[in-house]
Parts: sequence; C-alpha cells; structure tokens
Amino acid sequence: MSENKENLESTQKNETVPEIKDDSSEIKIKTSRLSDMSPIKIVRILLIILTVLFVAGIWLRNRPDPVPSADSSAGTVDEDVQPEETVEPTPLPNELIDPASITVFIDKTHSLPADYVPESLVTPYINSTSDVIQVNEKAADALKSMAAAASDSSVTLYLTAGYISYETQDDYFNDRAGMVGEAEANKTIAKAGFSEHQTGLAFDFSDEPSGTNTTVAFADTDAGKWLIEHAWEYGFIMRYPEGKEAVTGYTYQPWHYRYIGKDVAKAIHEAGENYTLEEYYKIK
Ligand SMILES: [Zn+2]
Repeated sequence: MSENKENLESTQKNETVPEIKDDSSEIKIKTSRLSDMSPIKIVRILLIILTVLFVAGIWLRNRPDPVPSADSSAGTVDEDVQPEETVEPTPLPNELIDPASITVFIDKTHSLPADYVPESLVTPYINSTSDVIQVNEKAADALKSMAAAASDSSVTLYLTAGYISYETQDDYFNDRAGMVGEAEANKTIAKAGFSEHQTGLAFDFSDEPSGTNTTVAFADTDAGKWLIEHAWEYGFIMRYPEGKEAVTGYTYQPWHYRYIGKDVAKAIHEAGENYTLEEYYKIK
C-alpha cells in the first residue's frame, strides 16, 4: 500500500514539477507581454500559479510518508539482527534438562540452577591431586573402574577436578576474567551455572600428581592417549575435542571428560573422531 502511494506521489511530483517550470517560463513570456494582457487574464494566470503551488504544498506536507516507511524498514533490520546477538537456547527433551540425569546437557546457553547441588556427592579413592575432590555418585563406580583399568595398563590417571560448586566456579571465572578479560576467559572457562563440573559428572585429568598439565600437551601423554582410546568404554567422552570450538563453544580440552553413560559414549565413539555431544543430540 505505501509503495503504491509513493509511486502515485512521485508521479504527481513528476507531473507537477514540470508544470511549475512551464508556468514560470510562461510567466516570463507573458510578463514581457503584460501590457498586452487584460487584468482578468493576469488574475487567471496568478490563480493557476497559486493552485499549482497549493497542490505542491499539500504534496510536500504529505511527503513524510516515505520517511516512516524507511524508519520501519530500518526497525525490521534491527529486529533481524537482535536474535543473532542474543542466542536463544535450543529447546531440549527432559532427559537433557533434568540436572539429576546423567545425560543432562550443559553448554553456553543451557545452564543449571545456581542452587543445584548433586543429590549425592562422594569421594572415591582414586589418584587425585587433592583429597577432597567430590564426584557425583552416579559416575563414581565408572570412574573407579576406568582408573583401575588404566592402572592395569601402567597408566596413572590423576583426577584434578570433579564437582565444582556454583560459587567456586564463579570465583574461577572472575579470577580468569580479571587476568585475561571476560571474552578470552569465556573461551576456556564456563561462567557459573554453565559448567558441567557443577553436575559432578565432569572430570579433569592430569598425568602428574601436581595436576598442572591441563594443557593441550596432555593429549600426547600416556594418560591422555589412554583416555582417548578407552574412556568411552567406561561411559566417558572427551567433551571439547580438537577443531570443534564452533560447535561446543570451547577450545580443545583433552583433559576434560564427561560421564554420559556407556550407551551414549559408545555411540559418540562409533560416530567418529572428535564427534561431539552437540552433534549427537543434533543441537548443532
Ligand atoms: Zn573441566
């Protein structure tokens, strides 16, 4: 509708503008012969000029029309841009939302309640860099079995992190952000509420009792290699594989494993190298 109006108006403009010119040229010609004209003719010419100016005036007054339509189209552009800036979480089925489920899905847009604490936290006896590392009871047996199997292959896995509370995660993120800035911190550390560690189902490993080897170099250690080959057999997956930053939102973290249960871990393992939970659940 507004387009038609615009066209009509521009047609009017095209018609009226030349008219003004024609008239004014006529005026020149006629002014030169002013003395030859009767006063009535002069009045008629003036009336025509006034009418033309009046019509042009109405057209100019109505002209703001195209302006709001330009504004509204700009508004449409803004609306198109906004959803890209605010990433909406993908709706998930219940077993991926329930924090108590071993398949709960956490990423940068799917979070846990700030007050969520796993129902049962335990401290299984395995090699770790601290005596007080707690884990979700649902993953404890699998963790013990995996550590024992690694040990049988002369590989020692050191657990450096298990359950991390919302408050501690908040401190970690803020400390890191204070050092490298929030954008950089966001690539490697989850904000409070967005960490799998809050479920007690995520684990960081090291090949050193000091637990300092949480770097990509861990992938080339005996412990790192053993986990890449065998973790899935116990229900664990490397959560942030190499080259999948665009999918997971995190840089390569060969030390961070997630307990997801044997069925899902096996399926992800069989789907191919560096396959992610996001791809498995068709979230990305
Ligand atoms: Zn971790």
